[in-house]
Amino acid sequence: MTLTLTNTLSRAKESLPAPGERPIQLYTCGPTVYNHVHIGNWRAFVFYDVLRRSLEWLGYEVRHVMNLTDVDDKTIRGSREAGQSLREFTDRYTQFFLEDLDELRILHPHAMPRATDAIDSMVALVKRLEAKGLAYQSDDGSYYFKISGFENYGQLAHLDVDTLRAGAGGRVAADEYEKDDVTDFALWKAWSEEDGDVFWETELGKGRPGWHLECSALAMEHLSESIDIHAGGIDLVFPHHENEIAQAEAATGKVFSKFWVHNEHLMVGGKKMSKSLKNFFTFRELQEVAGATGREVRYALLTGHYSKKLNLQVTYEGEGEERRPVLFDSIEAARSAIHRLDEFRRGLTIRGGGPVGDGARALVEGYQAAIRAAIADDLNVPAALGKLFELVTDVNKLPDFDEEFGRFVVSVLDDVDQVLGVLKPEADAGLTPEDQALFTAWGAAREAKDWAGADTIRAQLKEHGIQVQARKGESTWSRI
Ligand SMILES: [Zn+2]
Repeated sequence: MTLTLTNTLSRAKESLPAPGERPIQLYTCGPTVYNHVHIGNWRAFVFYDVLRRSLEWLGYEVRHVMNLTDVDDKTIRGSREAGQSLREFTDRYTQFFLEDLDELRILHPHAMPRATDAIDSMVALVKRLEAKGLAYQSDDGSYYFKISGFENYGQLAHLDVDTLRAGAGGRVAADEYEKDDVTDFALWKAWSEEDGDVFWETELGKGRPGWHLECSALAMEHLSESIDIHAGGIDLVFPHHENEIAQAEAATGKVFSKFWVHNEHLMVGGKKMSKSLKNFFTFRELQEVAGATGREVRYALLTGHYSKKLNLQVTYEGEGEERRPVLFDSIEAARSAIHRLDEFRRGLTIRGGGPVGDGARALVEGYQAAIRAAIADDLNVPAALGKLFELVTDVNKLPDFDEEFGRFVVSVLDDVDQVLGVLKPEADAGLTPEDQALFTAWGAAREAKDWAGADTIRAQLKEHGIQVQARKGESTWSRI
């Protein structure tokens, strides 16, 4: 099935070509590994994951590449403050990031190259731009991109560059800047005191790459000069993505990416995240203060369409310094939705009624098709979740069904979960004390050759969603 996406270039929904022979080349902007990733950025990483999973679910082959920004203004500042080498400092935060990816059930991209592993590609790209007269060296030895030489500058952010540049025409060295500063930007920064021991001796002189350069170079190195989809958070449209397009397209003369897709901001407690409002959380802080699991946070982040702002609802008490969160409403809601889904799944495995008619099967298949259609239509995950809960309600209304039908519905849940990644119960969670006692009693009954007693306990555990097995004298359990 063909996927449609809202393309930031056109501000309209556009269809990808139907799944074919060639894999879809997907590039997404990765984290800057200088601190724990905040929950707003996790919205982006969950969005990329849903995008990649949806493509695969709809029949596309995908190659997904995401960079790790391990050299820029922020990582250098952070490593110096920590008194660590850049590599030591960024490796630590990369490790945290990878652990959190797993907690949030995010599939690892096929490649996650570090910026510092691609210095040669970046230097080559600057040389290519220089040869075309689109990069020039300033007095301090840094290289800048000449935006007046690239006619299409501003196409993604829909900027009227001529108006913005009136009275400007200077240069900006910082990695991050505002639209008012639309001007020539740094490709390569000549070494300065603040860089300490972070520099490379290259054809461009002693220095380091600018942030924007790395994504153009890595996408071209690991995918190709003309990719299918580039994704990122909405805050990256300008200047980062605008600059990526300029660097790549000015060098190659080809369309850098056919699709640009962006996820909107995450609000917390109805406001933009900020430390002073005490609504700024990393995933790890949410685990700590809200007792949230990765599965719950993922679910909460799936409840809004990517192109719309999403509010993580939190109830606060007090004012000013006293202000503190007292209830994480969205996490609570996610928890109860997950509980309902888990109970539903468990119920499917313990029904022992008679066969159902064709109507019930067709009903479930209808929901499965509706969920597929919702995902294919611009990744409408909230609509897909709505259909999923309608399925739950309708199946729960069936007076009776046999094990075969139960297994069929579980297979539909597993199918849909290829995109959602939240329906499988925690695989590694241990047994509750009650279930542990039953499991021990089951082993003891078997040892005593009390087969009837063992069968009764086995049935009890099955009702709790636990399957027990005795193999080669060893008792094991697994979740159904
Ligand atoms: Zn990027």
